[in-house]
Amino acid sequence: MTVTEEIKSRLDIVDVVSETVSLRRSGRNFAGFCPFHQNTRTPSFFVFPETQTWRCFGACAEGGDLFSFVMKKEGWEFKEALKNLANRAGVTLEEAAPVDKETRKAHNKQAGLLQAAADYFHQLFLYAPQAEVARSYMARRSFNEETIEAFAVGFALDSWDACRSHFNMQGYSDQELLAAGLLTENPDKGTKYDRFRNRLMIPIRDVDGRIVGFGARTLDKDGLPKYLNSPQTDLFDKSHLLFGLDMAKRAIREARQAVIVEGYMDVMQAWQGGFHNVVAQMGTALTEQQLQMLKRYTKRFILALDADAAGAKATLRSLQVARQTLDREVEVKFDAHGLVQHEGRLQADIRVMTLPEGKDPDNIVQESPEEWERLVEAAKPVVAYVISVATADLDLDDAKAKTEVAQQVLPLIKDIQDPIERDHYWQQLARALRIDERALRQIRLPEKPLPERRAAPETAVPQTKSTAHVGWATVPKKARSGVGPIATDIRQADYLHQIIRLPNLVLRVNQKLQECGQTHVVVDDFVLAEDRAIMRQMYHLLDVSSVVTIDELWDSLEQALQNRLKFLLSLPQSTPSELEKLADQLTTSVLDWRLQEIYDRVVELQQLFPPTLRQEQPGIAEMYAQQTRDLHMAKLKLIKAKNMMSATSRRRSEDALNGRY
Ligand SMILES: [Zn+2]
Repeated sequence: MTVTEEIKSRLDIVDVVSETVSLRRSGRNFAGFCPFHQNTRTPSFFVFPETQTWRCFGACAEGGDLFSFVMKKEGWEFKEALKNLANRAGVTLEEAAPVDKETRKAHNKQAGLLQAAADYFHQLFLYAPQAEVARSYMARRSFNEETIEAFAVGFALDSWDACRSHFNMQGYSDQELLAAGLLTENPDKGTKYDRFRNRLMIPIRDVDGRIVGFGARTLDKDGLPKYLNSPQTDLFDKSHLLFGLDMAKRAIREARQAVIVEGYMDVMQAWQGGFHNVVAQMGTALTEQQLQMLKRYTKRFILALDADAAGAKATLRSLQVARQTLDREVEVKFDAHGLVQHEGRLQADIRVMTLPEGKDPDNIVQESPEEWERLVEAAKPVVAYVISVATADLDLDDAKAKTEVAQQVLPLIKDIQDPIERDHYWQQLARALRIDERALRQIRLPEKPLPERRAAPETAVPQTKSTAHVGWATVPKKARSGVGPIATDIRQADYLHQIIRLPNLVLRVNQKLQECGQTHVVVDDFVLAEDRAIMRQMYHLLDVSSVVTIDELWDSLEQALQNRLKFLLSLPQSTPSELEKLADQLTTSVLDWRLQEIYDRVVELQQLFPPTLRQEQPGIAEMYAQQTRDLHMAKLKLIKAKNMMSATSRRRSEDALNGRY
């Protein structure tokens, strides 16, 4: 989780806003008078607890998140807002250390060594006579050359010092080999020797595709541990890695879902079978950092559980299933509570797919890709899955057993943040237990339930007789997993990524926007506070000099923004290499996100101010009409701009065909 995400998860926007703005509950949301423009008649300012955002539907027609609210309210820069909010949230900000450059240098050297080691192991796998055992192992598991090549599968010789002397000769010290996890030290004798011996070597890459460590499978019949991973190093941190993500990210975005399996082999087999949106846990329970990373590409995660775990009665006991995986010493936990909480905090959709008895993903993909598709399709939301397991072989005549199931599943249902979803599972559980929902609601829970979110002040806005209708208003979840066009935050991240690599694009895109009657890209175009701050800094640097390097930008940003920058740079690169085409593409992307913003606004307006409400309150009707008119005008201008852009690109490609360009 980034610092800003952590701050946002600890503070409630409703609390922060209500300190300066009187808010009144309005259905799932809160309404009040906008603090940014003069108004006393109609409360046009809304705060949405679910998305932790705010919006004014009045004169300013602006919105944003916690950070943008505080920045606007106090007139602060991002840095000040960050300091202040971190303090309130009790989050310690890391100082951007001066040693950063030194550390980066050391990391680069280590990364170089790991890459060289991967090449070395891979060459051994391909050509060494001793590697026959590894080659036949891979052949037995039906891996083809292309997959072996893609994952750069390797082999470590059955020797205590082959790797060490190879790299000593290349100028790497034992210290460096130890730091990279290639050597192990015997603590008693102080002797150093190769960590990986007679093992199949699977390079593990970070999201940017840099090798950070290895997973090594034993090739001895009874070798232990079955899998040996690199030790924790500066670069290799299992809680922050997902195996295969570097190769899967594009496919995950396209498929709009990520499948999470247990083993490296499962990922490789799925990949070979044409399913490229598959990643593996690293032998630990799924961490929030891993899910945060995945969330950049999709909000729907499908966890593949093997039949042992799926059928385990342990689900009933603690809602946690211990699974053995990768490495025999490590137990992976399926932690239903944890998952539901992640789901709420990340606004994600986490599902569980269960594999048939005795099958792991790699046999299924090998035997029948259609079966794999069917299983993915049939994945169930975590709570539905738990209900189905918990009630699967329940004796419906046994009242005590039913109570027990209810007591175990209810806390999970209470953890669900979305009220509609929560209600849905109350009903589903009541049906599964064949009891009355009212009876279910009276069951006492052994543990204390989570504290409810604090209600906002009641009397802040004078009650009118129609306020009850406001209660029906709901706000659509932004970019619900799966369906819909590319999410705005993804477009914006891509835009930033491209202009950071090629700063000239900023001016070129702005020029194009101007040519088609649109304003330049402005800081407020961006959804995320970090992105706004990065864009502001980019403009600032471009003002000072026409050439901006990534290092320069990096050094001018504070830690929290550097983390965002690091993420932006890890995104897949756009395909056209030609600057002019890239500028066209980005301009269109800006138009698309502006258009999407308008569509979202229209839906919001319609849901917040339904016809009944508009009929009863002239102030609201007027505001609605004004906003709708403005949005309509803006939409027409955008559509015109889009048409102009597509005509330009068409002309350009025709010119290119005729050799005129
Ligand atoms: Zn306003």
